[in-house]
Amino acid sequence: MNLEFQFTHEADVVVCGAGTAGSIAAIAAANEGKTVALIEQFGTVGGSSTLGLVTPLMRTGVENNPMCSYVAQDVNARLVEYGGASGDGSAFDPHMLSLVLEELLMRDEIKVFYHTFICDVSRKGDSIKGIVVQNKSGRGIISGKVYIDATGDGDVSYLAGAEFESGDEETGKNQPVSLRYMLGGIDMKKFREFLAKYGHVSENISTAVTIPNRNWPLYSVFMEAVENGDLEEDDAVYWQIFGVPGRKDTLAFNCPEFFDTTDAVDYKDLTYVQLHGKKAILRQLRFYKKYLQGFEDAYISDIATMVGVRESRRIVTEYFLKAEDILAHRKFADGIAQSNYPIDIHGRNLRLESNKGNRALDDSRPFYEIPYRSLVVKGIDNLLVAGRCIGADFVAQSSLRIIPTCRAMGEACGIAAAMAIDNNIKSAQVDGSKVREHMIKKGAEFA
Ligand SMILES: Cc1cc2nc3c(=O)[nH]c(=O)nc-3n(C[C@H](O)[C@H](O)[C@H](O)COP(=O)(O)OP(=O)(O)OC[C@H]3O[C@@H](n4cnc5c(N)ncnc54)[C@H](O)[C@@H]3O)c2cc1C
Repeated sequence: MNLEFQFTHEADVVVCGAGTAGSIAAIAAANEGKTVALIEQFGTVGGSSTLGLVTPLMRTGVENNPMCSYVAQDVNARLVEYGGASGDGSAFDPHMLSLVLEELLMRDEIKVFYHTFICDVSRKGDSIKGIVVQNKSGRGIISGKVYIDATGDGDVSYLAGAEFESGDEETGKNQPVSLRYMLGGIDMKKFREFLAKYGHVSENISTAVTIPNRNWPLYSVFMEAVENGDLEEDDAVYWQIFGVPGRKDTLAFNCPEFFDTTDAVDYKDLTYVQLHGKKAILRQLRFYKKYLQGFEDAYISDIATMVGVRESRRIVTEYFLKAEDILAHRKFADGIAQSNYPIDIHGRNLRLESNKGNRALDDSRPFYEIPYRSLVVKGIDNLLVAGRCIGADFVAQSSLRIIPTCRAMGEACGIAAAMAIDNNIKSAQVDGSKVREHMIKKGAEFA
């Protein structure tokens, strides 16, 4: 036992953060026959897609919605089988997702370190030697051959001294954050009829309704409540609801949203959002009960453990993906994910644009790809990054941050880590086109 540490552990691949990308990365690496350690600050897998209550999977906008991940396809299929998702698995129950992911982590004998916070990185020259963690047992070091930073905020890359960017290039501000919640006890039939009276007809309440286009039918109801002092103006800027498969009386809410306290790696802002977010949720619940029909018996069934962070550190990688790449539908030989999800920058004025760019509208393959090189952290030989913190500019990141794309990145990292180990090479020397080929060989659907 190293005297400096109360515990140590060694694995081939060390995945940091068991969230959207990290969970898939760990499973993909284990499926390649590698021993895997997975480190997570909370006591549940899935990150934003479970503890952040983010549901559903946004559609990528690519024809037939390919997942670009055989692991994600398996997860979705299991979710549908267990009644925790519908359709192709896109609409899902966050709690059921964590059960499915944990089932796979245990099946693959992944060594999970829950309730364990990554607080430092041991680096020698251009390589990482270990991840320093803290938990109830004390301080530990978890070492591996290849490391995957899937912390969302790029904590490991940052602690290892990698370069990064953060926030809007013009204002320096991160994207707005939200604290999501779910309500149960809703009379859906009554609420649907109420919505219809205001001109919103939708059999499936999964339809997103957002206010920034001021023509949204319930806008007048929200503004009346603002005038009466029952809501605050920001409550009426962004409001979105989704049905949750398997929960007939439940809606998941993509709000309240915070537009000013947005420094996603500042504990003061995160604390503010937790405290004021809950206050806003109570205010919104009272509003529903008073102004909307169908919410008479509604109750708060869940509040996100994690603040919903859309964007924070973006790590400088071998290829830094730019808005132009997204807009021009650029393809890469080492493209490991495909998407045409729009540019989606939140704010009091939502910027939601399709990615038509300067391409002809009859483009026969209207989507962009993310190259493997955008996952290879510059200057560190054995570190890959997956999820919303990969190398991309502010605008490009606003499109690639959705769950399906983050999962594909995780899978690519897990496979690439195994290739680096098998060939005794640096992550930058792994041929990304081979990673893509391997994903497809394993069953990942690409367009
Ligand atoms: C409010 C909101 C709504 C959204 N809506 C949608 C939507 O409807 N559909 C969609 O597809 N996408 C949506 N997104 C985007 C999507 O959810 C995220 O971009 C994506 O889930 C991020 O995945 P990730 O793996 O990068 O990070 P996460 O899933 O957040 O995973 C990071 C993990 O690392 C852990 N971690 C972080 N730091 C440490 C540390 N120091 N030590 C130990 N563990 C650590 C975290 O606890 C977490 O489990 C939304 C995002 C937000 C914020």
